[in-house]
Amino acid sequence: MPDATESDISNVEKGIFEAGAISKMLDEKLSLTDIAKKVTRDKNIKVIEDCKMPVYKCDCSKEKMANALSSIGKKELEDIIKEDGKAELICHFCNKRYQFNKEELENILKKIK
Ligand SMILES: [Zn+2]
Repeated sequence: MPDATESDISNVEKGIFEAGAISKMLDEKLSLTDIAKKVTRDKNIKVIEDCKMPVYKCDCSKEKMANALSSIGKKELEDIIKEDGKAELICHFCNKRYQFNKEELENILKKIK
């Protein structure tokens, strides 16, 4: 609140005091808007939805990358082992790098029927 006046601030402080601890409100499963209403005592308050940034969590894993490797085919995998002896896969979604050494590649190869 950059433009908050002295009385605004004490009003909010009073609101916080009356509303009780935020953690208690969270326990009561009040929404962020409800808490803001209680604290500021402004019934028309709106919580800007944009503040709730969706956190994108990639569910990639080394196991999934191994599956991707096994799907390239037995021959291709054999070539990689022969030529490079290792492989590095980068997740297209989160740019996480997964490295596979020769032993790991051979294990993946063994699982390919
Ligand atoms: Zn990822």
